[in-house]
Amino acid sequence: MNYIPLAIPNMSEAEATNLQKCIDDNFVSSVGQFVTSFESEVAALSGNQHGVAMGSGTQALHMALHCLGIGAGDLVILPSFTFIASANAISHTGAKPWLFDIEPTSWTIDVDQISEALEQKCRRSAGGNLELIETGERVAAIMPVYTLGTPANMDQLRRLSETYNIPIVADAAAAIGVAYRGQPIGALADLTCYSFNGNKTITCGGGGLVSGDNVALMERIKHVSSTARVTKNYDHDQVGYNYRMTNLQAAVGAAQLGRLQDFLKTKRRIRARYDAAFSAIDNVSIFPSPEDRGSTNWFSGLVLESAASLNPGDLCEALGRMNIEARPFWKPVHLQQPYQDAPTESQDYTESIWHRIVTLPCSTDLTVEDQDRVIEAVKTILSTS
Ligand SMILES: *Cc1c(COP(=O)(O)O)cnc(C)c1O
Repeated sequence: MNYIPLAIPNMSEAEATNLQKCIDDNFVSSVGQFVTSFESEVAALSGNQHGVAMGSGTQALHMALHCLGIGAGDLVILPSFTFIASANAISHTGAKPWLFDIEPTSWTIDVDQISEALEQKCRRSAGGNLELIETGERVAAIMPVYTLGTPANMDQLRRLSETYNIPIVADAAAAIGVAYRGQPIGALADLTCYSFNGNKTITCGGGGLVSGDNVALMERIKHVSSTARVTKNYDHDQVGYNYRMTNLQAAVGAAQLGRLQDFLKTKRRIRARYDAAFSAIDNVSIFPSPEDRGSTNWFSGLVLESAASLNPGDLCEALGRMNIEARPFWKPVHLQQPYQDAPTESQDYTESIWHRIVTLPCSTDLTVEDQDRVIEAVKTILSTS
């Protein structure tokens, strides 16, 4: 039986044609027509005026924070339940993540918990900054993560951001093409960051992008991520970064963008079929689908309740023996070795859920037959264990 991978890229003639064009034109590096068009197309999809493409989603988050002036002595509010890259991008600026729990209904950051913490644990400094009373660290930004491509509770979060005057940098790594109350997501945050890593819905091989509307800020992001060069004569005005996406990556991304709506449809179908198959099984629950927002359904899978007869590791191993790739999901940041010292709010829900999640094959070329094989395999393993 064929091997069914978890989430792999979906390449076609269109990507090959674009890559060949780069070779023919000799535009393979960080300047080129594909970079420019990729930036404006992703920004438009995001509902923003400007986009700056990067080598990875981590770099996009890092540049967004860095160019908002965030650095040592600052805290950035982040859900602990995220891929470690969100926290790493904060650390790269010199700041620290302040870790919050997630809501059960969406697996996105618990805005009530933030509201309470800001009220009870923070004060305004003489200079006007919002700071954590205990340490004097500045609360410099909020980074909601659009888990599985589902936006956070942005109505409530934006009210908080306005009340306290702290910017929002959205980790929308897996949320390309999603709508929130019928609108694109770019207006929900000061800056919105995407990833085009190999396992995302569309990929550039690797890549990222910062999207936003503030022209001066977006120009700064472009400048700082392109070595902060002022003139062609090796003149630079600050410590810059060499983070820009290459034309080769953008060539792949441009072709992928043309296929995005098809991919999103497939992701929706995959998610719906798993949900239908697993919602009636004892001790198994499905991923959340908040009714008030859309999702790109980046990953699909199931949650094993504590009463289930086997644990996620055993299920993944058993599927592996049947030539099906399945994996646990993110280990929360507060449980990761490099973040032992990060300030952390109570993580009741995160700690109850993260180790029970199993992600299942959800590549955009997954056939209905292969998905049925995955579903039957899961059912067989669960019923015989
Ligand atoms: C993929 C991902 C990232 C990092 O993107 P890279 O392109 O791999 O650097 C950050 N945050 C989340 C939530 C992700 O899923």
